[in-house]
Amino acid sequence: MSIYSDFRLARDEIYKCMKCGNCQEVCPLYLATRKEVTVARGKIGLLEMFVTGEAEMTAGMAERMSYCTTCMACNEKCPCGVRFDQILLAARAEGARRHGLHPIKKTAFTMLRLQRFFNFGMKTGGKLQGAIFRRVEGRDYGARMRVDLGLLGQKKVFPRLAEKPFRENRPTVYVQKPKLRAAFFTGCMINYFYADMGEAVLGVLKHNNVEVLIPEAQGCCGTPAAVNGDVASAIELARRNLRAFEDCGAEAIVVACSSCGSAWKHSFARLLEDDEVYGPLAAKWAARTYDINEFLVRVIDYDRENLGRIERKVTYHDPCHLRRGQNIFQEPRDILRSIPGVELIELKRPDRCCGMAGSFCIVHPDLADKVLAQKMADVAQTPVQTVATGCPACRLQLWSGLINTGLPQDAVHVVQLLNESYEKAAAH
Ligand code: SF4
Ligand code: SF4
Repeated sequence: MSIYSDFRLARDEIYKCMKCGNCQEVCPLYLATRKEVTVARGKIGLLEMFVTGEAEMTAGMAERMSYCTTCMACNEKCPCGVRFDQILLAARAEGARRHGLHPIKKTAFTMLRLQRFFNFGMKTGGKLQGAIFRRVEGRDYGARMRVDLGLLGQKKVFPRLAEKPFRENRPTVYVQKPKLRAAFFTGCMINYFYADMGEAVLGVLKHNNVEVLIPEAQGCCGTPAAVNGDVASAIELARRNLRAFEDCGAEAIVVACSSCGSAWKHSFARLLEDDEVYGPLAAKWAARTYDINEFLVRVIDYDRENLGRIERKVTYHDPCHLRRGQNIFQEPRDILRSIPGVELIELKRPDRCCGMAGSFCIVHPDLADKVLAQKMADVAQTPVQTVATGCPACRLQLWSGLINTGLPQDAVHVVQLLNESYEKAAAH
C-alpha cells in the first residue's frame, strides 16, 4: 500500500504537526495571500478533521488542496519534520477518488496516456501555432495566445511549439571509446518546446565522450497526473517508461527536467510499491537516474579544460524539485563558476518558488502570477544578463515573467551555457 492508494498512511505525518506556524514564513502562497488555507498548517488542520472523523472530505475540502505549488519549502522549515509533500499527494489522491478530477485535468491526463494521439496533437499544434499564438514583439522568442481560453490568461508567454518533436527519428549519439552509455529521458517540455535544451544536453554529453540513446517509446513522466491525484494514469505512464528504458542497453538515465528527475528517482517506486514486476524495475532505475548537472559533476567529472570564454553576469534560480526534491543545488553552481568569463551573482532568495508548478498555474493563474512577481522583483535587483535554471518548466515561467515585467534578461538551462562554452572553445 502506498500513500497514493491509502490516505490513512499519511496519518502519522499529519499528527506530527504541532501547529507552530513556522511554515508561514516560507510558503510562497501564504506570503502572497496571508490566507491560512494556502499554507501547510491550514491544510493539515482540515485533514486532521477528516482523519478524526469530525469532517467529511467534501468537494470543498478537496478543492482547498489545490492551493499548493508543491515547492516543499515547508518541509525544509518544519521543526517537526512534517513531510507535507507526502500528505498533499495522499490528500489529492483521496479527493480525486471521492470527487473525480476537474474535466480539464481529466482530458489532459487522458491525452498523456494516449501517447500517439498526444504526439499528433502537439505536432499539429506546432504547424497551426500561427493561428493560436502571436509572437511577442521585440523578442526573438516567446508567444502569447491570441484568444483567452480561460487557461493561464492572455498574458502568459509560451515558447513556440516545435514542428518536429525533439525525439522524432533521433539517432543514437555515438562516440569513440565511450566513458558510459546513457539514455536521455527528455520529458514533454524538451520534446515539444525546448529543443535547444535537448540539443545542449546531447552536445555536452558528446563532448564528454558519453554515448547517448533516446528511446522513442518514452512518454510523459506522469508527474502532472500523480500530483493531481490521478493515480491510475501516473501508474500507466510509469510502467510505460520503465518498459521503454529497461532493455535499451543504457547504464544510466539522464534527465534535464527537475520534475522528470523526481519522478524517476522517487515517484515511480512509490506508485509501484505493490507491483511485483514493475516495483523492482522502478527501484533499480531510481538508483541509476541522474539530473544532468549531477551527472556531469558527480558521475563523469566533466571536462573543465576545453571551455571557451563567455563574458556574462548570470544568476541561478533553484527549481524546487531539484533543490529540495533531489538535493541538487551545488552542482549547477559549480558548472556556472567553471565557465571562464561567467560571473555568478546570487538572487536574494534563489530557492524561492517561481509559481509555475505544472497545473497549478492553470488552476490558479492569478496566484501563480503573484508568486512570479516576487521572483521578478528579486531578478530586477540582481545586475545580470542571464537567468540560468535547471528545469524547462521554470524556464518557461521565468521567460513569461521577464517579458511581462519588461526585464531584458533571457532564461536558459545551465547546460546551454556549458554547451555554448564548449562550442566557443572548439571554434577557436
Ligand atoms: S512548520 Fe511544521 S509543525 Fe509547524 S505548522 Fe507547519 S507543518 Fe506544522
Ligand atoms: S509545499 Fe510550498 S506552497 Fe505548498 S504548503 Fe508547503 S510551502 Fe506552501
